Amino acid sequence: MSQADGARSTAGAGGASPQEQRIQIPCPLCGALNRVPPARVGDHPRCGKCRAPFLEGLPFAVTGRRLGRFTQKCDLPFVLDAWATWCGPCKVYAPAYAEVAGRMRGRVLFGKLDIDAEQQTAAQLQITGVPTTILFAGGREVDRFSGARGADALFAWLAGQLDTQSRAR
Ligand SMILES: [Zn+2]
Repeated sequence: MSQADGARSTAGAGGASPQEQRIQIPCPLCGALNRVPPARVGDHPRCGKCRAPFLEGLPFAVTGRRLGRFTQKCDLPFVLDAWATWCGPCKVYAPAYAEVAGRMRGRVLFGKLDIDAEQQTAAQLQITGVPTTILFAGGREVDRFSGARGADALFAWLAGQLDTQSRAR
């Protein structure tokens, strides 16, 4: 009986074996590159290296050193909020940004860059005012806007951009 089971499962694995496509997502905490089957993205996967759940729909701080992982090596679109501790509109914007991060859990990653802590990176990104929101997808900047927006407006902008992206493919 166990032999039959074994044969069946082998046949199943060999026969069905679809192109096990996996998407690459860097861990916001440790930077490790995780490869996740698309169907599992919503299942609160944990990082293979640090074991932290890394797709929880929460904004996370990004250092300049790690930014490239998210803009170049992440198969999910990545949004960046360039902000500063002294910026009033940034404080107003933060809860809206966090809300949309939750709504887009598993679809988009949401990073935050403190422009005073990461001045060189802020200069490279040509941040001229805060807050500035930048969307990266497919290894390049797709669009950006300056100033705070409400959650619905931010969500609509992102959804529109992602729609355009998927149609371009
Ligand atoms: Zn990790």
